[in-house]
Amino acid sequence: MAAVGPLTNPLTSRLLALGFGLILLASCGEEQPARTKTAAPPPAERPLVKTPAFSGDSAYRHVARQVDFGPRVPNSEGHRSCANWLASTLEQYGADVTVQTGRVTAYDGTVLDIQNIFGAFRPEVRRRVLLYAHWDTRPYADKDSVRTDEPIDGANDGGSGVGVLLELARLLGDSLPSVGVDIGFFDAEDYGEPEWLPNRDQDYTDWCLGSQYWSRKPHIPGYRARYGILLDMVGARGAVFHREGTSMALAPNVVDKVWETARRMGHGDLFRNRVTPQTIDDNLFVSQMAGIPSANIVHYHLDTRMMGYFAHHHTHGDNLDAIDPDVLGTVGQVLTQVVYAE
Ligand code: ZN
Repeated sequence: MAAVGPLTNPLTSRLLALGFGLILLASCGEEQPARTKTAAPPPAERPLVKTPAFSGDSAYRHVARQVDFGPRVPNSEGHRSCANWLASTLEQYGADVTVQTGRVTAYDGTVLDIQNIFGAFRPEVRRRVLLYAHWDTRPYADKDSVRTDEPIDGANDGGSGVGVLLELARLLGDSLPSVGVDIGFFDAEDYGEPEWLPNRDQDYTDWCLGSQYWSRKPHIPGYRARYGILLDMVGARGAVFHREGTSMALAPNVVDKVWETARRMGHGDLFRNRVTPQTIDDNLFVSQMAGIPSANIVHYHLDTRMMGYFAHHHTHGDNLDAIDPDVLGTVGQVLTQVVYAE
């Protein structure tokens, strides 16, 4: 995914130029609640529902399994092998699996064979939610100082979101929810222009090629979901998840639903309430092009000492050592609560 400079707002004009028409949100913190003198007592809190137990250790094993395939860069052997494993694992957990194959052209003209992989639980139910992550990994370590032209493990960037969703798929197969759930693994999210290019393209459409492909042509014609939740970089030690700017602009209610659930579960330390700059990630295209308002749970720091994505973003440090099963577990428990409360 691409970072947008935290103190600049280049994104708006670029997206407007593309016809995205995004409304820019100030990225400087919490909103002030409206004050009235005779404030009504707050409504009673919705109780948490009972859910199956999400295991962070199991999610971690799913991350490790992906890393074992090697980098999951489109057109590589590791990519093909991992795709087969993802589809068969979803199937094994009882999902109706659809693999959408396609061809997209990368920023440098490389034609990529992509696979967007979907697992449907309760496919007969009309009321649905879409939970998704990208499963490909970055072909370069372009933010590293060594071996910058080599691909990264992508344990967090790619692997973690998929790991959480596979563990959730296991639960969904055992204990069907009321709502229909689609698990989506998008390809070619991370094949955007490398940092070293002197004249980087300004439009950001070189990122998220798989979700853009799918948003134009869903795996099921006329596919609808009430909302979507994207997981990206949700497994690193020391993670924080602020409210992501693009999600706040395009799907504030979905953000509220997830962050309120986390707060009620006592995870306000991880799910925080400041607003990040708008980022370019699959949720932008799924929200705007496919019309499924989506929230992005993404590791992004807003401290002055550390600003931006998790420290090992697009470096060789994005490996299994960076992953904390407890972080995967907390994200998974929140997501599980959101799904079973529907
Ligand atoms: Zn990335």
